[in-house]
Amino acid sequence: METIAERLKSVQASIKQSTLDAHRPLNSVRLLAVSKTKPVSDIVQAYEAGQRLFGENYVQEGVEKIQALEKLADIEWHFIGPLQSNKTRLVADNFDWVHTIDRLKIAQRLNDQRSIYRPLNVCIQVNIDGDENKSGVTSNELPELAKAIEQMPNLVLRGLMTIPRAHQLKSEQKLSFNKMADLYNQLKNLYPSVNTLSMGMSGDMQTAILCESTMVRVGTGIFGSRI
Ligand SMILES: *Cc1c(COP(=O)(O)O)cnc(C)c1O
Repeated sequence: METIAERLKSVQASIKQSTLDAHRPLNSVRLLAVSKTKPVSDIVQAYEAGQRLFGENYVQEGVEKIQALEKLADIEWHFIGPLQSNKTRLVADNFDWVHTIDRLKIAQRLNDQRSIYRPLNVCIQVNIDGDENKSGVTSNELPELAKAIEQMPNLVLRGLMTIPRAHQLKSEQKLSFNKMADLYNQLKNLYPSVNTLSMGMSGDMQTAILCESTMVRVGTGIFGSRI
């Protein structure tokens, strides 16, 4: 069986290859290691192999890990799960990033509750396939939410995030990802703080990188399957 360090290396190599294939600059894609359901010891292994960005989906689990690993001060913690308004304070107090802003109320609460002196980095989640089982704004709702967040002093609008339908065909994946790239480029033209397009997971990160993703969120590819 491969170790976490070995799997991390091959994910990094694959990102590098896709970046070259897309004729994009090296280091233009950041790797977020999604450690949900995995023990703190797995995060430490990835950390020791050089990984610094970690993503968690569940508030309580994430906060416990952040507190357990407090001494690894250069870890950047990303919240990537659905966020209910009664959990915003814990997120505002503990995380560096939130990828899943999908309504004004959540953004407002995070802004009001952020007590750490650094602003919270946020991405707006877009439901790019109009999937009724997924959260996220439509492309029509996006401009108003972005404008509101831009005016919040304790939040920094960093970009967009999406979880597309589990398309089987690469051509279908590309269609969704390219729509996201268009929205991302429009947003970037309006707001100079925007530099992040969070899309692509273990199964579709190569295609996402071809379509301008700047941050891939990889769980299984690094930590193995979650049962
Ligand atoms: C679990 C999860 C991932 C990672 O998925 P893998 O297929 O294990 O790479 C990425 N993004 C989000 C939002 C997730 O919930």
